[in-house]
Amino acid sequence: MSVLELTDVTYAYDDRPAVEAVSLTVEAGDFLGLVGPNGSGKTTLLKLMLGLLRPDRGSVSLFGEPAHEQSDGTRVGYVAQATGDAGGMPVTVREVVRMGRYPHVGLRRFGSSDRRRVDEALERVGVTHLASRRLSSLSGGQKQRVYIARALAADADLLALDEPTVGVDTESRAAFFELLRELNRDGLTVILVEHDIGVVTTFASTVACINRNLFFHGDTLAFSESDALGEAYGENQELLDHRH
Ligand code: ADP
Repeated sequence: MSVLELTDVTYAYDDRPAVEAVSLTVEAGDFLGLVGPNGSGKTTLLKLMLGLLRPDRGSVSLFGEPAHEQSDGTRVGYVAQATGDAGGMPVTVREVVRMGRYPHVGLRRFGSSDRRRVDEALERVGVTHLASRRLSSLSGGQKQRVYIARALAADADLLALDEPTVGVDTESRAAFFELLRELNRDGLTVILVEHDIGVVTTFASTVACINRNLFFHGDTLAFSESDALGEAYGENQELLDHRH
């Protein structure tokens, strides 16, 4: 079974289509880079994939169920754009990662196996030394690692990230994408919305290039050798010209 199956998906804000007739499949173990110009519908498409938006037309199947009816919320970890805002709550790093376990714990006690899973998740993303720190005291890159650890503690099968390193320094960015690659090699399916094409061609195994419509979906090497990027961005230029 595919992780995600989009069939002819269309979505408009009011009457302005942001995503149109997109069909694509994400298989378990894929590292999909979602690229396209500014305003091309990447975030909208990601939200449709995760069931956070419902398509006007077409269907999105996530782990075999309609995405918006996903019954097991732990299977997807979502890391939104780095906003620099820790939400104001005085939570520690460990507490945030523990939250990932709560759906598994339910009404039973938080046990030693849950604690072990939290410790492993902290360790895996390299934030064990920050476990007692307030989330709000961390850098943007460190916070994003904590959110990944929360998804790992939840035993997520799919990690979806929306431009996770905006505002993160260059050195931390490289290490961050390296971590994603390792997690993917360990079996986690990754979808990464990223404006930096170089990052996508370096780290992703497959690419979806959109500008409202899907211009390309396939493996990274074939993408690099195709004209998809020029076509997608060229169309954007026309749209921009049209608007002015
Ligand atoms: P990207 O992530 O590629 O920058 P988005 O999916 O954020 O693109 O946006 C696609 C288009 O939809 C843009 O024209 C944007 O202005 C519009 N859009 C995004 N969110 C909203 C919203 N909540 N209401 C109205 N229009 C929106």
